[in-house]
Amino acid sequence: MKTSNFRIVPLATEIAEAARRVVNAGSADHALITVDSPRSSPCRHCLQWAQPGERVVLFPYAAIPSGNPYSETGPIFVHANECRRYSAINEYPVDFRNGRVFRAYDLSYNIIDAQLMNGSEPEVVIESLLQNPDTAFVDVRSVTYGCFTFRVVRVGHASGLPFDRVAL
Ligand SMILES: [Zn+2]
Repeated sequence: MKTSNFRIVPLATEIAEAARRVVNAGSADHALITVDSPRSSPCRHCLQWAQPGERVVLFPYAAIPSGNPYSETGPIFVHANECRRYSAINEYPVDFRNGRVFRAYDLSYNIIDAQLMNGSEPEVVIESLLQNPDTAFVDVRSVTYGCFTFRVVRVGHASGLPFDRVAL
């Protein structure tokens, strides 16, 4: 299904590349892991599940930057080897149509709403959150582990937001 009012924002390539460099330097907060089960390790850069046998880097990522009441840093994976950044930014990623929760934030990084899918399509949930004019972006997270998966921004509101300068 094509999206209309929003764009998918995968993790910036610079962040994935930095994580790969840092893990190779032996940093304590970056771990190199070989995936042993399917659908356990979502790569935030290509927005696909890493396959068993593939290696991923596990590291902390500040989805909501420090200096805000809702600041949040949590663990994410990226493929340890170079992968292609998700480019179908007008389409919701097929690998993450289930098991996600949707959190709406305003321009000041305050959470203003959160919804589960409850049987809806993800596009419907996102469109519903964007009906609130205060919603600047929606973060899609794992409903079980809580980990940040990717960001969705409103089309037409892309410029001027701090996260867009890096992510888009
Ligand atoms: Zn990847």
